[in-house]
Amino acid sequence: MKIKIIPERCIACGLCHTKAPQTFDYHDNGIVKFYTTPALEEDFPETMENITAVKSCPTSALQIVKEKN
Ligand code: SF4
Repeated sequence: MKIKIIPERCIACGLCHTKAPQTFDYHDNGIVKFYTTPALEEDFPETMENITAVKSCPTSALQIVKEKN
């Protein structure tokens, strides 16, 4: 599944990294980034950890991108 980061919405709460540490990391200022890439949109496995992390974000800074068929 494709996950999108909207950094302007991130309040650096740390929740996503706690839920899915293999996917989400932080810049020095605490704003979220992907662990594996500087991109703002990337494909990741559809794991419970990743889904929970996205849904846990209190400001919707993380979103699952719906693929168009
Ligand atoms: S859960 Fe949302 S607000 Fe909190 S650090 Fe992650 S992206 Fe930022």
